[in-house]
Amino acid sequence: MDVSNLEAAFERITVTDENDNQLVTTTTYHKKNVKDAPLVLLSVEASGLTPPKGSLSTAVSLSGLAASQSAANRMKLPLQKLAAANAAKIVTKVNVSSQAAHDRSSDEVPAHSHRRTLTESAIYANPSTPKQWHLGMFEIGKPLGKGKFGRVYLAKERATGFVCALKVLHKNELQQGKVEKQVRREIEIQSHLTHPNILKLFGHFHDGKRIFLILEFAGKGELYKHLRREQRFPEWKAAQYIAQMAAALKYLHRKHVMHRDIKPENILVGIHGEIKISDFGWSVHAPNNRRNTMCGTLDYLPPEMLRGGGKDNFYSEKVDLWSLGVLTYEFLVGEAPFEDTQVMTQRKIARGEYTVPSFVSAEAKDLIKRLLVLDPEKRIALEDVEKHPWIVKHCKGSERAYDRASGGKFRGSSESA
Ligand code: ATP
Ligand code: MG
Repeated sequence: MDVSNLEAAFERITVTDENDNQLVTTTTYHKKNVKDAPLVLLSVEASGLTPPKGSLSTAVSLSGLAASQSAANRMKLPLQKLAAANAAKIVTKVNVSSQAAHDRSSDEVPAHSHRRTLTESAIYANPSTPKQWHLGMFEIGKPLGKGKFGRVYLAKERATGFVCALKVLHKNELQQGKVEKQVRREIEIQSHLTHPNILKLFGHFHDGKRIFLILEFAGKGELYKHLRREQRFPEWKAAQYIAQMAAALKYLHRKHVMHRDIKPENILVGIHGEIKISDFGWSVHAPNNRRNTMCGTLDYLPPEMLRGGGKDNFYSEKVDLWSLGVLTYEFLVGEAPFEDTQVMTQRKIARGEYTVPSFVSAEAKDLIKRLLVLDPEKRIALEDVEKHPWIVKHCKGSERAYDRASGGKFRGSSESA
């Protein structure tokens, strides 16, 4: 297929289809006394709040509450009220450490260290000499899926044969959804993230009408589909997934990035069965954008985000711990712990009311209990999740498989036990 054909093919793509009834809110949190100095202030949004002079605060939220297509069978809820209430208390500032690319530490693995090949390293944009990508450099393969603002295709870099996923976003769609600024910001953030359990953004380019994101290809598709197919995961599998999630979240939190939308729909599976957190909020919009309707599942919403905003009620990265608890439960039980009608779900979350079926082991129950704690400060730390007996038990002896999956950086069992 030559470039003009490709261009023609892309021209026919529309992404308007399901933009209408889905959306999200942007939430960022305010973190004081951050040790790692942020280097670049990307944007300060319309909250009216500006970062204190000389502050080292870093605050980034990557994703919102969007329900993905695959979540269609979950309850869709109008959350405008919630969004409006939340908007009032949100300190919207985003700083991103441009050091990201440099300050590698223990659990930060350059993705190319994992089965590095010539072709793989070729596609990695060297920050000092960014590659000038354009559509002609790719051979486009089958469609992989469709989201709110884009379609995703399997693609191959012609020069190297490197297989990736190409996500196509239409600028006019982004404009209509008023998410251009957010998309730009998300690209900036995600391109600085390199972790075996986070879907890599290799680069991006655009033409007059579209933005193209060059993404890591997740060969085994959506985790949500695996879960639905298997109904629930055996404990060993759930534990290994949760260990990978904990590793990825630890990495994000160290960079003062909170994902804020952890759920099976936002997790992809790599070719070796390793999980890849994706969905870093392409559909995020400013919290005061009332034109959009926020629909999504309440199931993963932490209690502190349900509550109306007192002025001191900032979210912290601890929201991801709650969601990790919900995820652990859903992996093991096949449904989320607070699933119910909208009103009842909110009530149950606010009270932390759930029951664990008896087929779930005592160790797993214990971890869920330590994650689903109403007080964000009292939730088990990610370091301790990795050392939790349930994780240790099921990840021990599987280091090899896990190692491969996580780029050889898993330290869950023998070292941490
Ligand atoms: P949302 O609009 O909320 O982000 P989504 O995550 O479903 O919804 P996209 O991120 O645009 O939307 O992706 C659409 C679908 O394409 C995904 O659900 C997934 O099945 C597939 N997909 C996306 N990225 C990849 C990838 N890197 N590798 C393999 N499949 C992918
Ligand atoms: Mg997505």
